[in-house]
This record gives sequence, C-alpha cells and structure tokens, in this order.
Amino acid sequence: MRIGFIPAAEPVTRLIEELGKLPGIGPKSAARLAYYLLRVPEAEARALAEAITAVKDETVLCSHCQNITDSDPCAVCTSEERHHNIICVVKEPLDILALERTGRYNGLYHVLHGVLSPMDGIGPEDLKIRELMKRLETGLVEEVILATNPNLEGEATSMYIQRLISPLDIRVTRLARGLPVGGDLEYADEVTLTHALESRQAM
Ligand SMILES: [Zn+2]
Repeated sequence: MRIGFIPAAEPVTRLIEELGKLPGIGPKSAARLAYYLLRVPEAEARALAEAITAVKDETVLCSHCQNITDSDPCAVCTSEERHHNIICVVKEPLDILALERTGRYNGLYHVLHGVLSPMDGIGPEDLKIRELMKRLETGLVEEVILATNPNLEGEATSMYIQRLISPLDIRVTRLARGLPVGGDLEYADEVTLTHALESRQAM
C-alpha cells in the first residue's frame, strides 16, 4: 500500500509555484531554488525580495523612448552627447542593453514592447508605434533604424513601420543580415551586432 503524499509547507509550496513561473525555470529547478533560499541568511533573502519590489515600485517607462527608467525622461533621451536625429527601434528593453554593449551606437532608441503577432492577437495598437510616430512629427529625426529581430514577426513589424514612415522625409534602415536568422538580438555577440549596425541598409 502506498503511503499518502505530504506536500511541502504551504509557504514553501507557494514560493516554488512563483519561481516556477519564471522563464526557463522548470518545477525541479523551482524547488531547488526555493530550498536554497530557505538556507540563505535572512538579510540576503530580504534583499532579493526588496529588489523585486523596487523594480516594480521605482521604475516607469520613459515618456519619450518607452524604455524602463527611474527618471523620466531617461538618461539616454536627455544626454547631450548622443545624436538626437537618429532613432533605433527595438522590440524590448533587453535589446537596448545588447546594443549599448557594442559601444558603437550613439543615437536614441524607441522600445515597441513587442512585435506584431496576429496569431497571438497582437496588433499595432498594442505596441508603442503611435508614440514613435509622435516623436517623428517634430521633424528633427533624420534616420530610423529598424532593429527588430530577424524572424518572421520582426520582419513583418519592420515592414509595417517602414510603410507608416515612408510619406515622411526620413531615411529608414534595417540592420544588415548576418544576425542569426530566427535568433534574438539579445543573444547576438557584440562583433556581429556592431557589423549589423554599421552595415545597415536602406529599406
Ligand atoms: Zn528615454
């Protein structure tokens, strides 16, 4: 006869459940992490909990570029050392991190917070496209680099935005080929990304 299954204490089960919702964390890893956190000194566990709360409480989207920031407008948008006549459009904030790591891009950004995906019911109004077009109305922007990922949805999103911009007197470019097809910008190495940026082509 099998003996009854006794679950972990309720708070532990809850932590395992929450950790299991993180990307790339399966149920076994979630359990391992939860028991690891049970063993760390209390101060360390609290620091983690507070960092998670702070990232929600103390950040907003920059009203210009839509990147995550703790001061609006963000440090990039207010920088006098950057070119304000060029905007690089990316899918998500992580992509900015990847482009900044190259140290070769000196313009501004615009975060779409997603890409067009009819299958998932994501249309233009779900992305920060209206906000982008508003920035272009000023007439100060001379080039828009479309740096969405080189996959089907990324290409479709780029094409859509390119069509919106085409009546305006603005050069529209796309990152050069060479990025791993179907891959994400954030995983591209710095040399590849720098090359893709510097060899960008007019759309
Ligand atoms: Zn900004």
